[in-house]
Amino acid sequence: MKNFNPADNIQDLQYFGEFGGVNPSISDSSTYTFLSAKTMFDTFEGNMEGCYLYSRHSSPSNLYLDKALAAMEGTETANVSASGMGAITPTLLQLCGLGDHIVSSRTIYGGTYAFLKNFTPRLGIKTTFVDITKLDVVEAAITPETKVLYCETVSNPLLEVADIAGLAKIAKKHNLKLVVDNTFSPLSVSPAKLGADIVIHSLTKYINGSSDTVGGVTCASQEFIDSLKNVNSGASMLLGPTMDSLRSASVMKNLRTLHIRMKQHSYNAMYLAERFEKDGLKTVYPGLKSHPSHELYATMINPEYGFGGMMTLDVGTLAKANKLMELMQAKNLGYLAVSLGFYKTLFSAPGTSTSSEIPMEEQIEMGLTDGLIRFSIGLDNDIERTYQMMKKCMMELNVLTSESVLME
Ligand code: PLP
Repeated sequence: MKNFNPADNIQDLQYFGEFGGVNPSISDSSTYTFLSAKTMFDTFEGNMEGCYLYSRHSSPSNLYLDKALAAMEGTETANVSASGMGAITPTLLQLCGLGDHIVSSRTIYGGTYAFLKNFTPRLGIKTTFVDITKLDVVEAAITPETKVLYCETVSNPLLEVADIAGLAKIAKKHNLKLVVDNTFSPLSVSPAKLGADIVIHSLTKYINGSSDTVGGVTCASQEFIDSLKNVNSGASMLLGPTMDSLRSASVMKNLRTLHIRMKQHSYNAMYLAERFEKDGLKTVYPGLKSHPSHELYATMINPEYGFGGMMTLDVGTLAKANKLMELMQAKNLGYLAVSLGFYKTLFSAPGTSTSSEIPMEEQIEMGLTDGLIRFSIGLDNDIERTYQMMKKCMMELNVLTSESVLME
């Protein structure tokens, strides 16, 4: 872990465009010619390294991005996809079939939750949802049919931290694959280095960072990625969630600044979290000592990238949360929008948006309260100014009382 720096690994790759360009050329083709029919046959059979057949299988632009993301996560290789869900669903379907079982964290992105809860049972795959922070509960949920342990490094939206090294031990003991969605913590956490078998990202978020596209990636061993792309049995090849070459080229260019952006997101989020907690607001941020997994998380991160840009505030009721978000948007402090990792702060109430797939009684059980606002803190240049402006909005709506602020 000590010598592993994900941003340096990306930087160490060197690409040239076709005419000596500083960016690799974009392969704007869906299909590729062959000088001999034999080479075409061998490529189809997967025996011709460096030859391209058809862009749903692979394309030069996608392979460049695959390589960079594999370098970032420290896996042998990777496979980019048209969305985060386009990475998660084929990965799980490649690992599990009729009669198989998954043990998953109960606090995960609503789309993933809905896939495991409502969709995969149609294919005979069952999932048990558990509190991922309790390793004994995780292990107790494993059955002889279990094939996969699934979690998010930092969960959406409650910011619970999964002990990846601890989960990896359990996975190894029971011969399971540990699949980790690292969307909230790129560069900060390197799950494969902590023992995860497969690392997934929604590129839509921090990695692309400009909220102009959806995208995803599965980072894993060559053997697993080959199986995903197999022309006869690969879930990615056959379900077809392929990223377009033009998009992979643009995501690649944005990836170049990820390390700078993550440091600023983390700095700004820590700044706000510390102050709002001091002001008496119920603040959840993994960088705060009050976070139940703060100490564990501090041992998991590559410290220079910090504790990430995601923070939650509980303002009591949904009505208050909605009013505050509308006011903050009116003051141009951010956007009332789902998603994360943008230059501008984004905020939403997860119970009625990104986690609305989770039934109300389950939301209550997992601690997803009505008044919870999820913030993806932006790249604001002067975060003290932002803090003062946000505080003003909160005081105007009585979310913060003048007493607590006067105490400062
Ligand atoms: N994983 C996490 C943690 C997410 O937050 C999301 C989307 O919000 C996804 C996966 C799905 O990614 P996408 O929207 O790119 O399909």
